[in-house]
Amino acid sequence: MTTTLHPEQVETTTRVLIIEDDPSIAEAVRRVVAKQHGTGVVASDGRNGLRNFFEDRPNLVVLDIGLPGMDGWEVLERIRDLSEVPVLILTAHDLEQEKVRGLTSGADDYLTKPFGVQELGARIQALLRRSQSAAVATSSESTTYRDANLEVDWAAREVRVDGEVVGLTKLEFQLLQTFVRHPGQALATQQLLEQVWNDPFGIGPERVKFTVLRLRRKLGWQEDQKDVLEAIRGYGYRYTPMGDTMTA
Ligand code: CA
Repeated sequence: MTTTLHPEQVETTTRVLIIEDDPSIAEAVRRVVAKQHGTGVVASDGRNGLRNFFEDRPNLVVLDIGLPGMDGWEVLERIRDLSEVPVLILTAHDLEQEKVRGLTSGADDYLTKPFGVQELGARIQALLRRSQSAAVATSSESTTYRDANLEVDWAAREVRVDGEVVGLTKLEFQLLQTFVRHPGQALATQQLLEQVWNDPFGIGPERVKFTVLRLRRKLGWQEDQKDVLEAIRGYGYRYTPMGDTMTA
């Protein structure tokens, strides 16, 4: 078995998304990132931050908690629904309960304003180092997936159902990938829009429905026959593999 790295898994420049409504703080963070030879992109509210996150897939997010409109907690929750990207939160309150909330909500680190640029630089570096070693471990993990019905070669993007190759579009492949990587888990339509379409706001849930229909048809998963892909009314979908699953 050979391991093939997808091109997108080889990062050359580090992209840091800075979600911060105070322009002077955002600029300070951007400079710290630039000093470490990374690219910092600034979004001044949560909605734009999330949009940018799904389009750009940054390597790290620096997230202010006190944002206008959707606050940092909500942004963090949305990011964590789908991604293990390191998140460093910035808060104006030096409160123990806020710190605990941050870390239990899935933030990786925490800084209280005002902070020094050197401390910020050190935190960013530590987070990136940690996530880069994790990424190497993941990319060498699995190249194929197999259960009693389905076989997927991730690197070759080849899908077989009962041994027969099935041609899927890029979107269908990504949708399948998302289901297969979350076996037995109920996935919300919104989550699929974010993960597969990278666009949680611009397009409607009916897009998910139609792509699921096409995927079902191509893979021979009829709703009435086998319940491999179950529609959960008012919520989303759940993939349940047939038989044992194997990854190699
Ligand atoms: Ca703020």
